Amino acid sequence: MAPPVTPLEQSTDDQDDLVFLDEHPAAPGPAGTRNVWRVMIIDDDEDVHSTTTFALGNLDMQHRPLEFVHAYSAGQARELLKHESEIAVILLDVVMEQDDAGLHLVRYIRETLKLHDVRIILRTGQPGYAPEIDAIRDFDINDYKTKSELTRIKLFTTVTAAIRSYEQIRKIEDSRRGLNQIVHASTQLMTLHGVQNFAAGVLTQIGDLLGLDANGALCVQECPDDGCHELMVMATAGTFRHLDNITLTVREDPRIHAALEQALAQRNNLYGPDYVVLYFAGKASRDFVAFLDVPRTVSDIDQRLLEVFCSNVAVGLDNVELVTHLHNAAFYDQLSKLPNRTRLIEILDDALDGPARDEATLSLVDLDHFAETNDALGHQFGDLLLVAVAARLQTELGEHITVARIGGDIFAVLGGSEQVNPGNILGLFQRGFSIDGQEVQLSATLGLVRLGEHEGSGADALKDADIALKRAKSQQRAGHFYFSRSMGVEIRERVRMMHALRTAFGQNQLFVVYQPQIDLVTRRPVGAEALLRWQTPDGKFISPDRFIPIAEYSGLIIDLGEWVMRTACRELVDLRAAGHHNFMMSINVSQVQFRHPLFLEMLKRALDDTGAPPEHIELEITESMAMEEPDLLIKMLGQIKQTGVSIAIDDFGTGFSSLSYLQRLQIDRLKIDRAFVTEITGSARGSSIAEMVIQLGRNLGLAVIAEGVEDERQAQILQSLGCPLAQGFLFARPMTATALNGWLSNDALEGAA
Ligand code: C2E
Ligand code: CA
Ligand code: CA
Repeated sequence: MAPPVTPLEQSTDDQDDLVFLDEHPAAPGPAGTRNVWRVMIIDDDEDVHSTTTFALGNLDMQHRPLEFVHAYSAGQARELLKHESEIAVILLDVVMEQDDAGLHLVRYIRETLKLHDVRIILRTGQPGYAPEIDAIRDFDINDYKTKSELTRIKLFTTVTAAIRSYEQIRKIEDSRRGLNQIVHASTQLMTLHGVQNFAAGVLTQIGDLLGLDANGALCVQECPDDGCHELMVMATAGTFRHLDNITLTVREDPRIHAALEQALAQRNNLYGPDYVVLYFAGKASRDFVAFLDVPRTVSDIDQRLLEVFCSNVAVGLDNVELVTHLHNAAFYDQLSKLPNRTRLIEILDDALDGPARDEATLSLVDLDHFAETNDALGHQFGDLLLVAVAARLQTELGEHITVARIGGDIFAVLGGSEQVNPGNILGLFQRGFSIDGQEVQLSATLGLVRLGEHEGSGADALKDADIALKRAKSQQRAGHFYFSRSMGVEIRERVRMMHALRTAFGQNQLFVVYQPQIDLVTRRPVGAEALLRWQTPDGKFISPDRFIPIAEYSGLIIDLGEWVMRTACRELVDLRAAGHHNFMMSINVSQVQFRHPLFLEMLKRALDDTGAPPEHIELEITESMAMEEPDLLIKMLGQIKQTGVSIAIDDFGTGFSSLSYLQRLQIDRLKIDRAFVTEITGSARGSSIAEMVIQLGRNLGLAVIAEGVEDERQAQILQSLGCPLAQGFLFARPMTATALNGWLSNDALEGAA
């Protein structure tokens, strides 16, 4: 049923008395409604309707005209209100069908229809029917007046006050809703992978925020070398689809181009009569701008919401760009652009599951004497040489071959056996490589695995190829070796070491050393990382990189890890007793330990028994581990954090992929992998991975520490990039507990001076 509405533009002749209303043509309003205040009159006395519209009709309130909706009984009002929206004020007669019909209606409006915004003014003809004070409070009634009290002026004042209060309620409500939407939009966006998806998501979310279907384009400002920037379209929506993936110039669309350029130049949003341009400042990355068609000027409140949204999204876009870069860095070798070891393992896993498995061969290609060449001719020359080798492997072995670079001078080639065989590969090295006009002759050694004969994962295949390569190298240079199952030497070696490790643990040949962590600004120690050491009876040290994997493999890491944990906790307590109170102890935890069902109990017991304060203990988990079994890990980390212990992600930058996941993990700090610190050179600043990690940490509100800092220049650059903490040989090598005590008391102070 259409509500009886007093028309604004008077055209019919049956309501001559209201002809004055056509002084107020309807204007479009901000939220899809017309720019009017809707006032509902509920009264069983028709005269009241006409006197009210006559009294208020030609007046503007808060710069808007009124529009009236009429109901002549409580019953009719109920029906109308079910479908009516945006009523600002109800002028309600108390006595209609029954003496208290009005009060019942109020209850119905507030409690059943849940219309909380609308302001209600009660009117009654009889002074004796005043509602109880409780009803006025409980049902949020703005005013109560007898009809005789309501002179034209009084009525005007009462209704104006009610409209003002309605307007305020709506504003608060709108901004609350908008902020909720922004929070929702931001979380939604974080789940999208890749810049392009994120950009498309941003357009949709802006549309949602403004309550319309998005029509627009989002561009990124590219700065190619020649200095003049370009606008690349990253995502489009609605009628802008034809602009997808192009470089936007004046030619495509002068209007849009000009508006985008203006927003970029002014570094802020623009609000036109029928468009908005939103500016997203890129901190670590590039600037983004979005152009959207809108049917009307965006209201003040929506503008403010968009500003909040933009700053949120700017951070989001930044993070997505950083993560995309890092993802790229985690799976591709930056020098040759080839897949790296991590990516190769994925490719191998696929190949082992695929139909071509039986025909496929994996070959490692190790360049002989490359280190000497590198030293003799310089690193830059060495890099060019590696790129040339990569190119030759890629172009000359034929199509459908995967070439990866898995180590400094080790490549891997995967493909059908007709192409990937010693004759073909070694044949490529018969010709020299010409770099900068210099001719260099290289030779290579191969370790090969036929995937058809291989049992196990991609990582295992790579290990087998490595065993074959070692064998090839130990026998003759420039040779090759195919892995065969009888080559169990390596495996036997592993078993031997496992027994030795068990014995060593039993005989106290293992001990923990501590490597200080330093505040880069004050150069003072802030903590230490506990690292395990194994010295055999003949005095030799065996690297944890060798024995930890064996401890993990054999399960010994459970006992070993617990022992390290307790030892490090005790050392922390000792240090505190010696006066070093603001000192953090970082403890490495391996995946196998973490997965153990009693890990949490073990941790709590170690804390309890030693009395180590949990807020000074940090567990380091590796990034690759952080990426496995997300839900389990998220739950585990939640429980661990409850003990008060904090969590760092070790070797960060080497193998993660998802931003949303990273955000869901309750971690406190990122530890930049040593490889990326080593990479830092004065020249490569702008785009280093270390810099991206630092920026990402800042954006996500995580602390960052750099490990493996070996020289002063790296320390300086890290500090200038905003990295607060570092660890490395520059400051101190890992040392025994006794040495650490001495160092903290003496040398550390000198370092700081
Ligand atoms: P990590 O956790 O990444 O430890 C840092 C490694 O970098 C240590 O090697 C440390 O001695 C070395 N390092 C520190 N500063 C520098 C530097 O400036 N330059 C260079 N080149 N190296 C530096 P380390 O002690 O040989 O440990 C190797 C790995 O063994 C550790 O890597 C960690 O993953 C594992 N590990 C060591 N102790 C434990 C332990 O108690 N539990 C577990 N689960 N793993 C451990
Ligand atoms: Ca570590
Ligand atoms: Ca590390």
